[in-house]
Amino acid sequence: MKIRSAVLREMVAEGPFADSKPLVISELELAPPGPGEVLVKMIAAGLCHSDLSVITGVRPRPLPMALGHEASGEVVEVGSGVDNVRPGQKVALVFVPSCGHCSPCMEGRPALCEPGNGANGKGELLQGGHRLSQAGATVNHHCGVSAFSEYAVVSARSCIPIGDDIDPVEAAVFGCAVLTGVGAVVNTGQVRPGASALIVGLGGVGLSALLGALAAGANPIVAVDVHDSKLDLALALGATHVVNARDADAVARIRELTKGGVDYAFEFAGSVPAMQLAYAATRRGGTTVTAGLPHPNDQWPLQQLSLTAEERTIKGSYIGSCIPARDIPRYVGLYRAGKLPVNRLIGEKLKLDDINAGFDRLASGSGLRDLIVF
Ligand code: ZN
Ligand code: ZN
Repeated sequence: MKIRSAVLREMVAEGPFADSKPLVISELELAPPGPGEVLVKMIAAGLCHSDLSVITGVRPRPLPMALGHEASGEVVEVGSGVDNVRPGQKVALVFVPSCGHCSPCMEGRPALCEPGNGANGKGELLQGGHRLSQAGATVNHHCGVSAFSEYAVVSARSCIPIGDDIDPVEAAVFGCAVLTGVGAVVNTGQVRPGASALIVGLGGVGLSALLGALAAGANPIVAVDVHDSKLDLALALGATHVVNARDADAVARIRELTKGGVDYAFEFAGSVPAMQLAYAATRRGGTTVTAGLPHPNDQWPLQQLSLTAEERTIKGSYIGSCIPARDIPRYVGLYRAGKLPVNRLIGEKLKLDDINAGFDRLASGSGLRDLIVF
């Protein structure tokens, strides 16, 4: 079938993207779903910093690539052997499909699935190869999803049903922002009620983590960003304190507010200064978690002694250490119960044709989670 899709043809280091238009709205040919695959009609897709990192070359991927990895959609058709979804169901799409039988999958860590991440790196689907082309030339899939497209063929392992009783547009954020942010707090950090938490970097993922820390009963919760508008939003969402990272005494203030540092610090900005701030603001015996994605060449200098002498823990968190089929229904349940109001993180609703300007807004760091609505 013919579909319209936002395709990255070459990387562009800097905006304004509304002028350079790195994403070209193109008519592509989409092959039907093979065994274990699903044809999904896209409902909404989030603009995420990981997409921006592919556009700017911070996370190089094979080109041309149909971009986008956070989305909700409706199942249109299933290939042979698919038994977890059926046509008509609304689904959230997950950006690492898991094979179910590699070592990480068998250890209950599907976010680290080896074939899933291998296929993503090559721009292929989990079952191998491509379903997208233009005039006979292959177009790569982004994270097995390619969400900025009217339709997509994805692995059935990328699809998690969400039910018909929630807004399917808002549900787009469950696949990346919510899975990554809430999961960093409850799965990777395993925050306990009453423990103090620090959230550094208030994009879609960081704000989701803030909601996750609230749901987990963390207190106090300090939120950090460089934009005052984000700090105001964090207070409105329930952060007990906010600190602007540009303040020279930011670390000292966090340590004072939390009587010697936080039990759990979470870094989502994907930068060395943000990680340094998060580590410096963590208390003796505390845990620092990073889910940011810095440039692969970035190095973080660490005082090694502090790990031993202060019994510190540092953890990386990829997609919130999630088990998608377990976690998305749990987070949707919290959302339904009013305990995870992810709808408050959603900003502008854009048309596919306005996607390049949307990435300018994301790059400015001041907006909320903008969605392409199909
Ligand atoms: Zn993302
Ligand atoms: Zn696997």
